[in-house]
Amino acid sequence: MEAPKAPAEPSWPGVLRTKEFKEKIKSAKVLCVGAGGIGCELLKTLVCTGFRNIEVIDLDTIETSNLNRQFLFRKHHVGQSKANTAAAVVQGFCPGASITPYHANVKEGRFDVDFFRRFDLVLNGLDNLEARRHVNRLCLAAERPLVESGTAGYLGQVTVHIKGRTECFECSAKPAPKTYPICTLRNTPDKPIHTIVWAKDLLFNRLFGAPDAVSDLDDQAAREGGQPGKQEEGDKEGGEGKEGAAEAGEQSEEARAAAASAAAAAAQAEDPSFFLRRDGEPALEYAARVFGRVYTTDIQRLAEVKELWEKRPPPRALHLDQLLPPAERAALQAALDKAAEAGAGAGASACKLLGLSNASQKWTPGQNAAVLLLATALYHTVRPSEVGSAAFDKDDLLAVEFVTAASNLRSSCYGIPEQSLFDAKGMAGNIIHAIATTNAVVSGLIVTEALKILAGCLGSLRNTFLYEVPVDRRLVVPATAWEPRPSCMVCGKTQLTLRINTKTTPLSGLVGAVIKKRLAVNSPNLMCGGFLYEEGEGLEEDEEAAYAALLPRPLRDLPGGGLGHGAILTVQDQSQHWGVDVIIAHTEDLSPDDAPEGFILEGALPTASAPAPPEQDGGKQQQQEAPSAAAKRKAAAAVAEDAAGVLHITDSDDDDDEQEGKEEEGQQQQQQQQQGAGTSVAAGAAAATANDSRKRPLDEDGDGDGAAAGGGGGGGGGEERGAKRAKAETAPAPAEDKDGCIVIDDDEDD
Ligand SMILES: [Zn+2]
Repeated sequence: MEAPKAPAEPSWPGVLRTKEFKEKIKSAKVLCVGAGGIGCELLKTLVCTGFRNIEVIDLDTIETSNLNRQFLFRKHHVGQSKANTAAAVVQGFCPGASITPYHANVKEGRFDVDFFRRFDLVLNGLDNLEARRHVNRLCLAAERPLVESGTAGYLGQVTVHIKGRTECFECSAKPAPKTYPICTLRNTPDKPIHTIVWAKDLLFNRLFGAPDAVSDLDDQAAREGGQPGKQEEGDKEGGEGKEGAAEAGEQSEEARAAAASAAAAAAQAEDPSFFLRRDGEPALEYAARVFGRVYTTDIQRLAEVKELWEKRPPPRALHLDQLLPPAERAALQAALDKAAEAGAGAGASACKLLGLSNASQKWTPGQNAAVLLLATALYHTVRPSEVGSAAFDKDDLLAVEFVTAASNLRSSCYGIPEQSLFDAKGMAGNIIHAIATTNAVVSGLIVTEALKILAGCLGSLRNTFLYEVPVDRRLVVPATAWEPRPSCMVCGKTQLTLRINTKTTPLSGLVGAVIKKRLAVNSPNLMCGGFLYEEGEGLEEDEEAAYAALLPRPLRDLPGGGLGHGAILTVQDQSQHWGVDVIIAHTEDLSPDDAPEGFILEGALPTASAPAPPEQDGGKQQQQEAPSAAAKRKAAAAVAEDAAGVLHITDSDDDDDEQEGKEEEGQQQQQQQQQGAGTSVAAGAAAATANDSRKRPLDEDGDGDGAAAGGGGGGGGGEERGAKRAKAETAPAPAEDKDGCIVIDDDEDD
């Protein structure tokens, strides 16, 4: 059987000038997720490029601080929906365009697979990892191309994700939120950020926060003695891979052991009640007592743990009396009394009372001590109701003052450079100032890649990265779009859509008929948001009972948000080293003819429910090398469907239904192999080139996904894809190397 030859790709960027392509742009349906910094620029650039059918989703409302870069918005829009306003404004200067806004969360059930299938392109301008992963999965399920983007200050990136051809958004590990080893924070800080995190997460919480927030960290430190633990904030968009690595690996075993003993000693010596203000204790005396403990006694004790200081100088203790003579302490009391009389409340500021008005100027050690004492006392005097439940907030001036002073004092113990209030605030709040120009460049790149996809110039697709300092004289660096990673937890296996009545079907029905019978799972582990269900060995009796109690409950009413429409249920079987995501599509009108079992499962079933072979890579090879004739036919059919842009994956499901009931187990396994094998070819070819041609960040996946790796992106067509891939690999330097890159002077130093 001869596979149809893939038509040659149109030339890029020549295709842009053809009339047909201009029409294609005009009629293309585009979904923009996000109408913020990137989204505003993107919407503008899309209509300027000729796109006319755009839908935009954004949950947020406009804030004053957005106005310096989200140029679709004006002052009178503050408080209004970003999506609605952006749509109206763009429509205003491009009346011919149809812009449909949704002031909503993209994770809502109504934005389901069917919704995504309505679009030719999905373009992300999102600011959080969770939503980006969600959109990635829906694009994979709906088989729609996704152009992803992110910016952080001067850094930015645009990546292209096409199922089965390029890696999905989750193929490469995203930088975990930055973490710092607890023992570094507690014992051996050597960077400003270490003392800031210590001040914010350890000292602030201990003095003003909820008691459990303190004990959590202390327990962890005592227990792990230097394992990384405390998380430093958030999803930094963009610039991925550069700063993502945790610093935990830097420590030697001896240092860990030493730190463990130091931490254990400290934990023993520490009585948390020491940090509580005693009955009748004047606020400033309390603050001075804390100072003496934290900056004098504790530092002296740490300095005595010799093992810690073999490779670095020990810290020097501070003495309050030297930093702040009694006369100055008396002045603090007067300032505190003044604030109490004025009823300063939430607006109280130690800096204001001390006349430290310049936020960019570093304080002297004496000023740091004064701010620390006064800020601590102010909390107890003018904001006493918050003590015991406060959480650090970068917009709370008093909290920032306290953290700045506390951090600087600790820095001076360790010889670490001190920070101004402004800088400390940025570090503590993890603020990276957004830059309009970066958003504009990134939006232009998104549209460029979108046009290539639309034109079918897939060999010209590029992932593009914006850097803050030049790399090979370039600030904008393109890279050939990467191959899917076969072992990806998300795209390395097939996604299924389950049409089922979530109101009436109990969990027992799902587990029995779908998970065990249809998917041949032995020991199911089901996860979806806050919902968890497990079976198999190793469960405690009470756990088993708790899970059994869930079985009669309807899917929609299960704990943790339920399994309603749009929910993505992660099904795993540790015993089989296999897993799959099942997208729930609530359907009430299933006829007994179409769905004799009460549900319809759509999507090619993945490969290999056999137990994982001892050596995982070897196992993958075997699976990939044996596509049956049936699988090839299916793969060919899938290609035809791909070309038409329409999906009829229910076809393969119908086959299942016909065959069911005969020698069930053996049949099922065979079907799975047949249906999955076609996709495995693509995945295997991808693996062969992918592994040499790029470096991957650390593999975050555990070993739960070993066998799932075989079931590649879906849709099949291994040979054709292989050919295209080869072309992509060997293609001459792309036009956008000349057009799309800013080449700047080497001499420039930033
Ligand atoms: Zn992936």
